[in-house]
Amino acid sequence: MTARKCIALIAHDEKKDDMAAFAREHSQALRGCRIVATGTTGGRVLETCPELDVTRLKSGPLGGDQQIGALIATGEVDMLIFFVDPLTAMPHDVDVKALMRLAIVYDIPMALNEATARQLLTLAA
Ligand code: PGA
Repeated sequence: MTARKCIALIAHDEKKDDMAAFAREHSQALRGCRIVATGTTGGRVLETCPELDVTRLKSGPLGGDQQIGALIATGEVDMLIFFVDPLTAMPHDVDVKALMRLAIVYDIPMALNEATARQLLTLAA
């Protein structure tokens, strides 16, 4: 039996509705996975899909992105789905960059928009 994949979910504020809708639409595929998420994103996903196995970390601006980066560095994350808002300045922009950098360093699949996330999820199912 193969271990369940661990998917990290993050959505910036303007993208949280999209992430909630994405989780609902793909709840079947996500049900077979362990999910780690930044605090607010995880809360929204759980509100929409209470049946999912979601571990909520700190909110992004308070260190949640860095927590996910650390999980990537220790090999615990198989895939990152990050709905980025490209139109809003973020106080934690450096954390966001550091997280993306680690996803590249450790060569894990990383979706930064919904079109790519849909494609990646077909691999996780
Ligand atoms: P949040 O963090 O899910 O706690 O809002 C996401 C982010 O802005 O990095």
